[in-house]
Amino acid sequence: MKFALVTGGSRGIGRAICIKMADLGYNVLVNYKSNEEESKNTCLLVEKKGVKAISLKFDVSDKNQVQTVLGGFIETHPDYEIEVLINNAGIREDALLIWMKDEQWESVINTNLGGFYYVTKMVVTNMLLKKYGRIINIVSLSGLKGVPGQINYSAAKAGIIGATKALAQEIGRKGITVNAVAPGFIKTDMTEGLNEKELQLMIPLRRFGLPEEVAHVVGFLASKESAYITAEVISVNGGLYS
Ligand code: NDP
Repeated sequence: MKFALVTGGSRGIGRAICIKMADLGYNVLVNYKSNEEESKNTCLLVEKKGVKAISLKFDVSDKNQVQTVLGGFIETHPDYEIEVLINNAGIREDALLIWMKDEQWESVINTNLGGFYYVTKMVVTNMLLKKYGRIINIVSLSGLKGVPGQINYSAAKAGIIGATKALAQEIGRKGITVNAVAPGFIKTDMTEGLNEKELQLMIPLRRFGLPEEVAHVVGFLASKESAYITAEVISVNGGLYS
């Protein structure tokens, strides 16, 4: 049974990616941190597409949880092959450097960058054995351009971009591609408090993007046909930054 694992699949961009993976014919492992109800809702939407959905609760920033929950799941389901990994789980906690609390720095780095590291390390071994895999990391315009008030988030996302390029070179010869997708402003809970009317004036396409528009690019990179694209970062930002 072929699976796609989507971290942070309970809401927003992650949910749209789960549905896209189902469209590609994958069974989906829907990871979440605390929102069990929304994770179950994602599972229902995935199952409507005629594939299997399994909800997996673990905190990607917690090495022990990744090892026990995800590692335990992999061990007890040797016939379930995770062929696609989408590192999507992420948080932002904005503050100017002078006001930033150590905890804000640590939680954003640990969730975004640490989560990428722990989960990818857990999943990549089987991809190497099978000599096939697709790893797609959801980064951000902040990691490309740097955004004031987001030194923690910009650093974490830029870190993942560096790791994407390095890992692509490490494991390309094993048939595994590693790419990143960098959204701009996308309508989700994460951007809910932002002044969309004002911000959209800076965006050439004059609107925030939709989660499905990010998922579309993830689906493209996850497809078998994208076999010759690796170490790339594709922006989905309405022309806000290029
Ligand atoms: P949301 O806040 O809507 O959803 C976040 C998701 O991540 C939820 O499913 C949440 O689970 C999960 N999550 C958060 N922390 C953890 C954790 N420690 N372990 C496991 N799961 C976790 O975010 P978006 O959909 O907007 O963002 C998705 C990704 O896209 C993030 O990486 C974000 O940085 C990136 N991005 C988003 C942009 C935007 O404009 N929205 C722009 C650029 C990048 P739960 O429901 O249990 O809380």
